[in-house]
Amino acid sequence: MSTTTQQPVVTLKDKHFIVSIPSAVIQQRVAELGQQINRDYAGKKPLIVGVLTGAAMFTVDLFKQFEIECELTFIRVSSYNGGLSSSGHVSSVIGLKEQIEGRHVLVVEDIVDTGETAVHLMKELGSKNPASLKLATALFKPVALKHEVTPDYVGFEVAPDFLVGYGLDYDGLGRNLNDIYVLKP
Ligand code: 5GP
Ligand code: MG
Repeated sequence: MSTTTQQPVVTLKDKHFIVSIPSAVIQQRVAELGQQINRDYAGKKPLIVGVLTGAAMFTVDLFKQFEIECELTFIRVSSYNGGLSSSGHVSSVIGLKEQIEGRHVLVVEDIVDTGETAVHLMKELGSKNPASLKLATALFKPVALKHEVTPDYVGFEVAPDFLVGYGLDYDGLGRNLNDIYVLKP
């Protein structure tokens, strides 16, 4: 197993962040979710749909846990302009080449904040008649939720603070951090 030198504080541009969820804790939880999904999707040959760019790490880590027959693809949507809060503007799904009609589709997101992105995404994919459609998210901010969306698999429920690392960025930076960090007040 690879280890990372955990820095308690990181600075990205003008902002300071402190460790909130260490990598080992994330990996342990990803393994648990993987086992749960292995059980739930046995014999269903799911199509795993990772949402770029933020969910790239979580999607791959989760995918590596699967012992079932499954496929992987990535799509893109955007709702965030690189700052510290959600822009509220959601574009539609880009880059889905797979037929999803009749398939068991599991969407993998980095974080559900207001839920706006997830609600649009699930609606658009749902309109293509998948056999089933579920949502896995590494992080969920229940207090920030403004839309009707219930993630089926949640890595961690978190407070409505700004996070970076494990795929999440601050103005393009910090995605490569293996731990999840929170903005220092
Ligand atoms: P929502 O549409 O649920 O409000 O926001 C979802 C998107 O906002 C996420 O996919 C992510 O790009 C961004 N986002 C929400 N909360 C955070 C956060 O704490 N940190 C970062 N880096 N991005 C966030
Ligand atoms: Mg996202």
